[in-house]
Amino acid sequence: MDQLLISYEEAQKKAPMEEPARQLFFMERCRELLEALKEAWGRKSVTFHIETFGCQMNARDSEKLVGILEQIGYQEADSEEADFVLYNTCTVRENANLRVYGRLGQLGACKKKHPEMMIALCGCMMQEKEVVDKIKKSYRQVDLIFGTHNIFKLAELVYACLEERKREAEAREGEGRFKRHMVIDVWEDTSQIVEDLPVERKYPFKSGVNIMFGCNNFCSYCIVPYVRGRERSRKPEEILKEIRTLAADGVVEIMLLGQNVNSYGKNLDTPMTFAGLLKEVEKIEGIRRIRFMTSHPKDLSPELIDVMAGSKKICRHLHLPLQSGSTGILRAMNRHYTKEQFLELAERIKAAVAGNLSHHRHYCRLSGRDGGRF
Ligand code: SF4
Repeated sequence: MDQLLISYEEAQKKAPMEEPARQLFFMERCRELLEALKEAWGRKSVTFHIETFGCQMNARDSEKLVGILEQIGYQEADSEEADFVLYNTCTVRENANLRVYGRLGQLGACKKKHPEMMIALCGCMMQEKEVVDKIKKSYRQVDLIFGTHNIFKLAELVYACLEERKREAEAREGEGRFKRHMVIDVWEDTSQIVEDLPVERKYPFKSGVNIMFGCNNFCSYCIVPYVRGRERSRKPEEILKEIRTLAADGVVEIMLLGQNVNSYGKNLDTPMTFAGLLKEVEKIEGIRRIRFMTSHPKDLSPELIDVMAGSKKICRHLHLPLQSGSTGILRAMNRHYTKEQFLELAERIKAAVAGNLSHHRHYCRLSGRDGGRF
């Protein structure tokens, strides 16, 4: 095992600088190392378990994390009694946050019985400095923390953790002292989009496809622009290549994902509208149903309504959050549309797109001096 494990520092120097080649290099190194560990532990397999909290974006991120862990050589387990346990966290719901802390306590007890276990945390909660500080101080059983911007780097980070683990074991054998460091890699923002890494789908017939990441809108109640960064769109050729591959693999339904899909393509070298992208996706053979979320009412264009109306594949379903029925509250929320503009938009969509179209209305209340308006 010694010859197999070059130090993380050495591996960083040897690894290609370009992505995804760099991560493929680390996947291979981790794979070799896990094989050696299985032998050392007398095990036939090593397992992982991912618990996902929150939205569709997190669910899709978890599919990518599963793809990387399987490539490394871990096998998925149903329960948290696994060798590698990862919580992909959400910061929007307080209850989900509390559940993470509660479960970390239980995992700590599990790790005492099963010392080779590794515990990792990622997702939106980890973008908050106070959360990371709290975990560093009170949850020393955690091995790895990373954020929303570098999930593609999982193999490299696992390698760093395994090295820490090995040095700790060596110190124990030699009765020396070694204080294991928690590996922490949280980025504030990035413009990087890494393509072509392994991904494992949850369902054989349908799949989410990220078309963009982040958001520029800064609605007053929302943390997304802070924890997922500013808007960046994937190149259309990469999106279409992914969908063609999915179709060839038997996928018939896709969900195009972004925090605000209607603003897709604005930051591309050759800008493209979301409606333009949909027209290209529609041409892909084998895809029978196209869905997308989420739409911001201020950015939903007449071109998109026309494309929906003329499409045989786009489902008659629109996730269009109203957020409040009060123009004053909408202004306080920084939503950039009025109640009247929303209603007028909804009428235009209903008139143009025949069928069973539904739009979601999410009502929430902003507390303020004039409380009581929704
Ligand atoms: S548009 Fe959506 S994701 Fe972006 S800031 Fe507003 S609520 Fe958050």
